[in-house]
Amino acid sequence: MDAAFTTRSVAVLGATGSIGTSTLDVIARHPDALRASVLAAGSNVSALVDLCRIHHPEHAVIADPARFEALRQALANAGLRTRAHAGDQALDALVASDACDTVVAAIVGAAGLSSTLAAAKAGKRLLLANKESLVLAGALVMAAAKASGADIIPIDSEHNAIFQCLGSREAGARVRRIVLTASGGPFRGRSRASLETVTVAQAVAHPKWSMGPKISVDSATLMNKGLELIEAAHLFDVGRDRLDVLVHPQSLVHSLVDFIDGSTLAQLGLPDMRTALSLGLGWPRRIDSGVAGLDLLRHGTLEFEAPDLEAFPCLRLAWEALETGGAAPAVLNAANETAVSAFLQGKIGFLAIPALVEDALAAHAHAPAGSLEALLAADGHARHFSQGWIQRTATGQAASA
Ligand code: NAD
Ligand code: MG
Repeated sequence: MDAAFTTRSVAVLGATGSIGTSTLDVIARHPDALRASVLAAGSNVSALVDLCRIHHPEHAVIADPARFEALRQALANAGLRTRAHAGDQALDALVASDACDTVVAAIVGAAGLSSTLAAAKAGKRLLLANKESLVLAGALVMAAAKASGADIIPIDSEHNAIFQCLGSREAGARVRRIVLTASGGPFRGRSRASLETVTVAQAVAHPKWSMGPKISVDSATLMNKGLELIEAAHLFDVGRDRLDVLVHPQSLVHSLVDFIDGSTLAQLGLPDMRTALSLGLGWPRRIDSGVAGLDLLRHGTLEFEAPDLEAFPCLRLAWEALETGGAAPAVLNAANETAVSAFLQGKIGFLAIPALVEDALAAHAHAPAGSLEALLAADGHARHFSQGWIQRTATGQAASA
C-alpha cells in the first residue's frame, strides 16, 4: 500500500472463527497499513490467546464472563500486554471507543447484533459478515449507520460482489434486478424425500466454501440464500421484486447486477473470503489478499440453474418472511438458529429445520416489530417456541423408536 495510507485499527469480532481467521491473514499481509487492535471471541480462551501472541492487540474480549479470569491469567502468563475484557457490554464499549476505527462483524448469529449496532452507532467503518443482525434488525442497523455516517461494507461474498458491481451500496433507479448466486450446497439435485436421513457430517461438507458449522448447514438447506435475500434488501434498499436467486455450482460468479440499459455486471473470483475482506479493509483501494487470480480455462464451464424450492423450502420461507416484513424475518432467523443448533447436536433431522421454521412463522410472524425491544421479544418468543417444538419432536422420536 502507498505511504499516504493511514494505519487502520481493526476490531475483529469472531476472531477465532472462519471469517476472523481470514481477516487476520489479510491484516498480517499489511503491517504498515493495518493493525488488529481488538480481538473478540465467544468462549475459547486458548485459541484467543494464541491469536494475541501473533497479532499483539491492545484488547482481547471473551464473551463468556465466567472466562474473564482465565483470559487475564493466560495473557499474563504469555507475557502479553493485551488487556483482558469479558461480556457483551465490554465488547460494545470497546467497539464504540477509540480502540478501533474499523470493525469486522464476524460473530455468528443474533449474538452479533449488539456489537454490530454499537459499531454502526459509533460511525465506524463496518465490515459486515454477520448477516443475522441485518435479518433480525436490518432497518435499525441501516438507520443507525446513516445517522452516524458509518460506512457499511458488505463482506458476504454475494453482497460484496454486488457492492463491487455498483461501486457503492446505492442501487437506485439504475438497477433493474440484483441476482444472488448460490452454490446449491452439498445436496443440490437431491429430492426432498432423499434428504430425510442426511447426517450432520454430510450437511457441513460444503462443496466450495470452507466455513463455520452454522452457515454450512444454512447453505445445505438454502436458508443461507434466504437470509442473504433479506440482507440484500436492507444493504441495497431494494424490494423483493428486484431480487432473484440463481444456482451456480462452480461458485466463481459471486453475484450479478442487471442495469436498466440491458447491461449485466458480475464479479468473479475464487471462493475465498479474503478477497471480500481485503476489499473492505482497503476500500477504496484494492490491496493484496493472498488469493490467486481466476484461470477460467482451467475451470471450463460455468453452469446456472433455478433453485429447487420444493426440495429446499427454507428459501421459500425466507422469501415469504421478506414479503411479510415486520417481525417475520426476526422469527425466521431465531427459529432457524435454534433448529440448526439442534440439528448439529443430533436432536432433530435435516427436514425438521424447515418444518420448525414454518411452524414458528405461522405462530409468531405478526408479532410487533416497531423497536429493538419488540424485535428482541419476537426473537425470544420464537426461540422459546422452537425449543418446545424440538423437545416434543425429540420425545416423539424416542417414543416411536
Ligand atoms: P464460525 O463459527 O467459524 O466463527 C464464529 C465466531 O463467533 C467465533 O470466533 C466464535 O468464538 C464467535 N462467537 C460465537 N458466539 C459468540 C458470542 N456469543 N459472542 C461473541 N463471539 C461469539 O463462523 P463463520 O463461518 O466465521 O461466520 C461468522 C459470520 O459470518 C456468520 O454470521 C456467517 O453467516 C457470516 N459469513 C461467513 C462466511 C464464511 O465464509 N465463513 C461467509 C459469509 C458470511
Ligand atoms: Mg454468502
